[in-house]
Formats: sequence, structure tokens, C-alpha cells
Amino acid sequence: MGLRLTVLGGGREVGRTALLVEDLDHERRVLLDYGVSFDEDDKPILPLSTPPAKLTAVAITHAHLDHVGAAPMLYISARPPIFMTEITKEFARLMIEDMIKLAGYYLPFEYPELETMLSCTQAIPLNKPVNIDGIELEFLNAGHIPGSAMVKLRIGNKTILYTGDVNAIDTRLVKGIDTSNLEGEILIIESTYGNVDHPDRRQVEDKFIETVKSVIEEGGIVLIPAFALGRSQEILALFAERMPYADVYYDGMSRKILEIMLNYRNYINRIDLLEKASRLFTCVQGTGMRKKILKSGGSIIVTPAGMLKGGPALYYLKRIANQRRNAIILVSYQARATPGRLMLSEGVVELGSPRVQAKVFWFDFSSHSGVSGLMKLVKSVKNLEKVIVVHGNDSVVYDFAYRIKEEVGVEVHTPANGETIDLS
Ligand SMILES: [Zn+2]
Ligand SMILES: [Zn+2]
Repeated sequence: MGLRLTVLGGGREVGRTALLVEDLDHERRVLLDYGVSFDEDDKPILPLSTPPAKLTAVAITHAHLDHVGAAPMLYISARPPIFMTEITKEFARLMIEDMIKLAGYYLPFEYPELETMLSCTQAIPLNKPVNIDGIELEFLNAGHIPGSAMVKLRIGNKTILYTGDVNAIDTRLVKGIDTSNLEGEILIIESTYGNVDHPDRRQVEDKFIETVKSVIEEGGIVLIPAFALGRSQEILALFAERMPYADVYYDGMSRKILEIMLNYRNYINRIDLLEKASRLFTCVQGTGMRKKILKSGGSIIVTPAGMLKGGPALYYLKRIANQRRNAIILVSYQARATPGRLMLSEGVVELGSPRVQAKVFWFDFSSHSGVSGLMKLVKSVKNLEKVIVVHGNDSVVYDFAYRIKEEVGVEVHTPANGETIDLS
């Protein structure tokens, strides 16, 4: 009896996050995130299942597919209330529609389940606790992408703080987390970068801008493959601030995401820069326009997919890769066995394909805290008794857990998927 946590996904892995909190004394169950991963052939990998009819509530931290992608599966046979911020709801609709379009054949749900999920969605703002059947739920800014939230859950006689994906530094899109007022006996924390720190963002940006300038000054084309949700708009805002005169184009789903951001201004840190970007830069429509852009040198193209696995980025890549004056600048995390990672390590996009002649760069624009930011967060939580480390690769999870034990001295768990931890 009491309170317990079962990890349904995201245990010692980055991806398909799904955490089930159960208050057994009162028969209440809250599911925190329900995401998917993708294997090397881009087939979705679902989290472990739980009977949806028994869920009191579902809370979604943000609209990246590794946190929300599997949620429609809960609406095949049941209608649990699902909570997220307003802008997350808009993003989630777009992201999941796109996923169904690309991978629908391998998914156990379709558009109708997505529609049902959206109709069961209660959009709640940050910092406004809601009461659901005796459970108190509050979203706090997570600093990761617009609308991203940490979850504060008052359940049984405990307060659980779940970080989702977090970032401690301010970016143009979102302000970093506020650690001045965090409390909870139990902390569930992501650990994507639980063993390293990122380089100073300002220096990364300076070097990035310098690199872009040097390529376009020589008449080259700069292709910036970037995640559709978050990274693309951060890069556009950076150009709006530092190179407003440049010939910048954006393509693919990043433009719909930009539109949503412009409609939900309160969730954006530097809305002025996003407005400037949408005013000054050109949204690409149709292949005719793509061809035109490629004919003239000196242009900058920001487009998904961030790891070059598909999307318009591939279209452009094929047409600019064979010229030395052009450049491909990666600004997103590059997972193992993706074309982006191959290009960085082997100089090719596919094994056996010709070498990429264009210059290739990678810059660290991560929207996750490095280990110092994560440790600061852990140390700031009042009444802390137990820490559960999730959303990190094997060795990283252990390194980070060890560090918390050493420096904070609380109980730390590193559960695998399927494992249950007693929280009472
Ligand atoms: Zn995320
Ligand atoms: Zn994530």
C-alpha cells in the first residue's frame, strides 16, 4: 500500500518517457508523459502499457514526441482527463499528426484517437494549481521549449516534483527554470546531460555566426538542419538579432510551429525577435521556390529534420553537398546511426555514398541543462528525501546518480523500464 512509481519508459534511456504514479490507498493513478522512441528504421517504439480506464489523470510536460507521442494510445478504449499547457496542446496536435502521417502503419492508433485525446485535454497555464479528485497538479516553467513544464504533484501525503526536460539557461524562446521556490519529498529528474556541461552559449553563438558569415561571404549556401519544434525558431530568432540583413529561408514544419508561437506570445521569452524573424525572413512554399533559392548563393536555409533523417533538409542536402563552398551546419543532437551523425564521423550521409564536399560543422545549442544546472536544481529542492533519475543513457544515469548521492546525500534510484519504486 501507499505511494509508488512504475517506470513504463525512459528508464536508463532517452526516449518514450512514461511514468506511472499510484496512490494505492485511494485508488488514484497519474501518468506523467507517454512518449515514443524510434528505432534505426524509424519505426516507433511504444512505452509499456497501463490500463487507461484506471487513470485519474495524465500530465504531459511538453510536445516533443518522446513525451507525448504515445498518448493517443490511451484513448482507444478510455477517456482519461489529460493536462498540458495551451501551447503544448497546439504543438502536440501538429507533431502527432505528422508522426501518424510518417509512421501510421506501425502505430496502434490513428487520427480519431488523437482527436479524442485533444477533446479530453484540459489546457492549464503555468503556476496555477488544479485539483483533480483530491490530487493537486501544478505546472512550473521547465525552460526547455515554449510551454514546457515541470510537474508538481501533491498526492497521498507527498509532493512529487517531476522535471520533464529542463533547461537552466535563458534562451530567446524561453526563460530558464526558476529554482528559488522548489519543494517536494520526491524528485524525478531527467539526466540527458547528467555527466557533462555545455560550452558557454554566448561563445557558441559567436562562433556559429562567424561561421555562417564566412560561408555566405564566399557565395556559399548554408543549410541548417534543425528540429522543427524549438531549435528551428531559436536559430531564426538568433539570426533576427545578429544577422537581420541576411537572406534567411525556413521550410517544412518549422513554419507552422513558428505560427503557433506567434499566436501564444506569453510562452515566448523574446517574442520581438520571433516577430522580426517572421517579418524579415522568407517562408519557403513549393519546390519551385526551393530551386530558386539553390540557384543564388549566399542564402541560409533553416529546416527539419534536425538529424537529416528526412524532411526538406534532405532535399537541400542532396543539391548542395557536392560543392566545397557550401556548408551544412548541424545545431541539434545527432543520435547514433543517423545521417547527421554519419556525416560528422565519416564524412558521408549513407555508408557507401560519395563523400560530402561541403563543409560540415556542429554547434551545441542544447535545450537541456548540463550537469551543473541539474545539480543546482537538485540542491534547490526543499524537503527532498528521494531522487529518481530517468531520461538518460545507462552510464550517464549512474554517473549522475552517484554525484547526487555524494553531494546531496539523499536516496537515489536509477530504475529500468518496468521497475517499481516505493515512494511512501
Ligand atoms: Zn524535449
Ligand atoms: Zn525528452
